[in-house]
Amino acid sequence: MQATVQSGVALQDLEDELRKIGYTTGHSPQSKPVAQYGGLVATRSIGQFSTLYGGIEDMVVGLECVFPTGQICRIKNVPRRAGGPDIRHIAIGNEGTLCYITEVTIKIFKYFPENNLFYGYLIKDVATGIKVLREVFVNGYRPSVARVYSEEDARQHFYHFHDGKCVLIFMAEGAKPIADACGQGIEEAVEKFKDGIIKKVDSALIEDWFNHLNWSQKDIDDEVQEMINNDSHSGYTTEISANWETIPKIYDNVINRIRKEFKQADDLVILGGHSSHSYLNGTNMYFVYQYNINCEPEDEFRMYHHPLQTIIVEETLKLGGSMCHHHGIGKYRNQWTKEEHGSAYYMLEKLKETFDPNGVMSFGNIFYQEEGAHFQK
Ligand SMILES: Cc1cc2nc3c(=O)[nH]c(=O)nc-3n(C[C@H](O)[C@H](O)[C@H](O)COP(=O)(O)OP(=O)(O)OC[C@H]3O[C@@H](n4cnc5c(N)ncnc54)[C@H](O)[C@@H]3O)c2cc1C
Repeated sequence: MQATVQSGVALQDLEDELRKIGYTTGHSPQSKPVAQYGGLVATRSIGQFSTLYGGIEDMVVGLECVFPTGQICRIKNVPRRAGGPDIRHIAIGNEGTLCYITEVTIKIFKYFPENNLFYGYLIKDVATGIKVLREVFVNGYRPSVARVYSEEDARQHFYHFHDGKCVLIFMAEGAKPIADACGQGIEEAVEKFKDGIIKKVDSALIEDWFNHLNWSQKDIDDEVQEMINNDSHSGYTTEISANWETIPKIYDNVINRIRKEFKQADDLVILGGHSSHSYLNGTNMYFVYQYNINCEPEDEFRMYHHPLQTIIVEETLKLGGSMCHHHGIGKYRNQWTKEEHGSAYYMLEKLKETFDPNGVMSFGNIFYQEEGAHFQK
């Protein structure tokens, strides 16, 4: 129940091979057709079915990596061990700043697509959706998809039925008794918060959404081409996480503050978000913002993207959440790495000093560096 791949193997290729023999990686980030295993592990990626299968960190059994000194390390493949700290996590999520990952062994899962169940609802507000998600997860159910969309974000994804409302969707999968029990748990949770539920959506519409989940290289190329053709419009996302109690507060604080403080608020075309990855103790919020650019292209980051992202990060860190649920830190968010980690930054800094003493690995990723910084403070 495990597969070993070299870092350059595309996720889609492994998934296609596994499906032929009745298995799945369980990993399905939207970038599935283009992402490769080295990048998936190095960025701590997470897929659209994470609530059942976990993030990449739950899937990696062992790996091989090379440090800047040329030292090759193999972390062996065992179901579990108590041999000191879990050193897999020095490589997982390192964004190429500590070592280069050359090989990965991941768990695989049995695949039961014939048992998939789909559920969709129009709901009153994001807070209602978060309450239903919480109910499902604290009762121990593990749907593979569990998502809540704000009105504006729902308009992008569910244009064929959103009706101007927030959307809540679920998918249950696995062996039939498990999928059925999970479906029942979802229906009970929805019933408990029925005051906030506007109406149930035909499950065929959710299944249709499920069948068109991923971006192909062509989609990405088309989108980039569209931006080149029409350079006045852009859109980004910032994904954060926090516990159940805090997430609706962060969501409201961010939206209110952007509406009040963001100087270019009139240029916003979409401002909203969705929760797409839930846990026993909390969930994520994937803020989405699109805007018309009324400035020179070189000022776009300073006038639009950066102020919007700053509000999201500040409001999240203020309430104890994480500013980076799954897209890593990279260079876009490296100015906040210290605040993100607080006193534990000491441990991160020591890893960098130890494994990359000459600072030759992935300049500026995770660790803010003044010279060549993406955004000067
Ligand atoms: C359209 C789109 C949708 C996406 N959807 C998701 C999503 O749903 N969930 C999600 O988590 N992410 C998503 N992402 C982000 C991204 O696809 C993932 O983080 C993915 O894991 C990156 O893999 P890659 O092979 O493209 O890596 P790259 O983009 O090539 O590299 C990413 C980073 O990892 C480092 N790196 C690459 N290979 C190695 C290696 N072998 N060893 C050490 N460091 C390495 C690189 O230096 C770089 O800093 C999306 C991106 C796009 C463009």
